[in-house]
Amino acid sequence: MKRLLSFVLLFCLLCTGCAAESAFVSTEMFAMDTYISLRVWGDNSDLSDVITEIRILEKQFSVTDEESDVYTLNQTGSVKASSNLLELLDAAVSFSERTDGAFDPTIYPLVQAWGFTTQEQRVPSQKELDSLLPLVGTEHLSVEGDIVTLDSGVQIDLGGIAKGYTAQKCTESLVIRGVQTAILSLGGNVQTLGTKPDGEPWVVGIADPDNPSEAIAVVSFTGSMALVTSGGYQRYFEQDGTRYHHILDPKTGCPVQNELASVTVLAQDGTLADALSTALFVMGLDEASAFWRESTDFEAVFITKDREIYATEGAAALLSGGEVQVISR
Ligand code: AMP
Ligand code: MG
Repeated sequence: MKRLLSFVLLFCLLCTGCAAESAFVSTEMFAMDTYISLRVWGDNSDLSDVITEIRILEKQFSVTDEESDVYTLNQTGSVKASSNLLELLDAAVSFSERTDGAFDPTIYPLVQAWGFTTQEQRVPSQKELDSLLPLVGTEHLSVEGDIVTLDSGVQIDLGGIAKGYTAQKCTESLVIRGVQTAILSLGGNVQTLGTKPDGEPWVVGIADPDNPSEAIAVVSFTGSMALVTSGGYQRYFEQDGTRYHHILDPKTGCPVQNELASVTVLAQDGTLADALSTALFVMGLDEASAFWRESTDFEAVFITKDREIYATEGAAALLSGGEVQVISR
């Protein structure tokens, strides 16, 4: 499996002409199975609070950490959940409903069958997939008070939403601490807070799916925004000349196969941007465009496998790079 690190690209493109900027503190870390870069216009205690918050949330949401709430839930079918896990599960279920199941937090039995969390990737048989598909669906998850319960055999995976939620929570905590400007990059999730002190726009690259250390387009904007990319190139394995990636269609149990190589969602809310980037990738270009036309809370950039760039009106206005096909209302 390859883990390709678009964060490097994203952070290299953060600014043009930083010389006049006032002081920031920054660090890099590995958590939530991805490389994380943090830059905060504040002091070291602001930065260390963000690091601590990421570690705490990772400990709750990880599917592989035997001490996490999600691990306990998946192993025992029940857990007394933290307020963060309850909030994230609630969001995950509502995005699943909103996207008609394209995003589904109960996908874990399928993710495991393909070996995406075990490092032992394999192509499961159709018989195996058929036996697992009935376990997928948010109707198998119930919450009463702070107790979360799963039907027998059902397991959850918040990997499609947890990084966006974490970035959102960290920026909210920074605001409470009085920090006005920051940029957090958790793998394919970038979240900005405020405007840089020198007034220059944030400049964030969208990775070229065929060469993820390069940008295929860049987004320039001022102010707070979450930009989250889902792409088949981010995690995959190859067997007998076929590439199998990590974003699964909950209806078939297989890696999504459509014209898309990546989807980037731009939104005010990081949790929403993360859930919808995964969901729009599952939907494909036409269905995702129709979904956007019915929505008012996000914009999106689609890169197709044949390297065409499609962008919703609001996103197109912020894009530069290649030729863009604009998706209108
Ligand atoms: P992302 O990179 O945010 O699109 O999330 C992809 C990750 O979410 C995968 O590695 C799986 O852990 C999980 N996942 C895969 N397919 C789905 C899906 N259809 N809905 C929700 N989560 C998914
Ligand atoms: Mg996602």
